[in-house]
Amino acid sequence: MAAPGKTFKIITYGCQMNQRDSEMMADLLQAAGYEPVADLEDAGVIILDTCCVREKAENKVYGKLGQIERFKSANQDLIIAVAGCMVQQPGMAARIRQQAPYVDLLLGTHNLHELPRLLAAVKELHQPQVAVPTEEGPLAEDLPQRRARGARAFVTITYGCNNYCTYCIVPYVRGRERSRRPEAILKEVADLVSQGVIEITLLGQNVNSYGHDLGEATTFAGLLTRVNAVQGLQRLRYITSHPGDFTPALVATISRLDRVCEHVHLPVQAGSNRILELMHRGYTREHYLDLVASLRARIPGISLTTDLIVGFPGETEADFLATLDLVAEVQFDNAFTFMYSPRQGTVAATLPGQLPLAVKKERLQRLMAVQNRISLTKNESMVGQVVEVLVEGPSKTDPARVSGRTRTNKLVIFPGDASLTGRLVNVRVTQAQTWLLKGESSHG
Ligand code: SF4
Repeated sequence: MAAPGKTFKIITYGCQMNQRDSEMMADLLQAAGYEPVADLEDAGVIILDTCCVREKAENKVYGKLGQIERFKSANQDLIIAVAGCMVQQPGMAARIRQQAPYVDLLLGTHNLHELPRLLAAVKELHQPQVAVPTEEGPLAEDLPQRRARGARAFVTITYGCNNYCTYCIVPYVRGRERSRRPEAILKEVADLVSQGVIEITLLGQNVNSYGHDLGEATTFAGLLTRVNAVQGLQRLRYITSHPGDFTPALVATISRLDRVCEHVHLPVQAGSNRILELMHRGYTREHYLDLVASLRARIPGISLTTDLIVGFPGETEADFLATLDLVAEVQFDNAFTFMYSPRQGTVAATLPGQLPLAVKKERLQRLMAVQNRISLTKNESMVGQVVEVLVEGPSKTDPARVSGRTRTNKLVIFPGDASLTGRLVNVRVTQAQTWLLKGESSHG
C-alpha cells in the first residue's frame, strides 16, 4: 500500500517517443516509492505528458486540465504536472500557468529525469515548480532500472532532430539531435531481454542519422548489427526512418540481419518535388522511389508504410495528383494521412498559399480512398498464408480473440486467450480487411 499522496497516474498524448518518456517517468516514480493507479480519482500525482505536433493534441490537454481541476478542489494535496513537448514551446509555460494556475509542475522534455526531485520540491516548498531549459544538458543515463512490461519494449536511441522540416515543431521542442552511446543502448536492450522481452523497437525522430554526433565509427547500421546479436532477442524494429538518410549500406545491412523485421516506416509526406522542397525534406520523389525499389529488391516481402500530408501551403491540384500518383506507384501497405495544419513557430505557418479547410478535407478524402483500396488489396493477397504473430493480448473488441503483429507489422486477430500474450504463434490468415487480418492458429 503506497503512502498517502504517493500514487500516480500518467496520461500520454502523441507519439511513441512520448509513450517511452512516460514509461521512463513511471519507472523513476516507482523507484522513488510511488505506485501507479488506474483511476485519476486515486492518484496523488497526475501527469499529462503532452504533444504539440498537432493542434488537436494541445486542445485536448487544456480540456483534460479542466476536468482534473475538480479533483484538486476535493484534494488540496493533489499535484498536477504537465510535461513534454507542449511545455517546451517558447512562451508556453507562462501560457499554461495563466490558463491553468492550479498546475503545480511544468516539466520540459530535457528535464523528465528530474521528476522525483521536483515533486519533492513542490511538496516541501508548497510552490509550483517550472523546469523548462532552453539549452539541453547532457543526456541522462543510468536512471533507475525499469521493469519490462511484457514481450515488447521501446528503447530510445536519439533525442531531438536536426532536419527542420518546415512544417514541424519537433526540432524546436526536442532540441538538436543527440545520440545515446551504443553501450548504454545495448545494456538497456540486454536487460530487457533478460526480463523476457523478445521484440525491441529502437526509437528516434530520424533513426538513420544515429551516431552522427558520436564520431564516424558509430552508425545506425553498426548499432543494428550489435543489437541484432543480443542473445534471446527475436524481433528488432526501428522508427522513424528518414528517406534522405537511408543509405545503400544500411539497406544492405538490414537485409543481412535476421532479427530485423521486414517492415520500414518511411514517411514520404508528398509526391511533388516542388512541395518536398518547400517542406525542406532533403530528398526528391525520384530518390524515394529508388530507395523503395532497392528495399524491395534486397528484402523480399518487406512491407512499407508512410506518412502523407495534404494541403501544404501552395499545394496545387497538380502537386496533389503527384502525391496520388506516387501512392499508386509505391503501393504502401498502409499510410498515415494528415491534413496540413500550421504550427506556430514553424516556417510553413508563414508561407503564402495557405489552403482553405474544404480543399484540404476533399484532398484527404481522395487520398484515403486510394490508399484504403491498396491496403485492402495487399491484405487480401495474404489470405491463406501462415504468418508469425507476436501476441499483444486480448482483442479490444472481442475477449474470445487475441491480437498481435506479424514481422511485417500487420495487425492480426485470431481466437485465443490471454495466456498467449507475449508468445509467437503461427496463424493462418483467413480473412482480410483494410486495417487488419483475421485468422486461426495454425500448427502447420
Ligand atoms: S525529420 Fe522533419 S518531420 Fe521528422 S521530426 Fe525531424 S523535423 Fe520533424
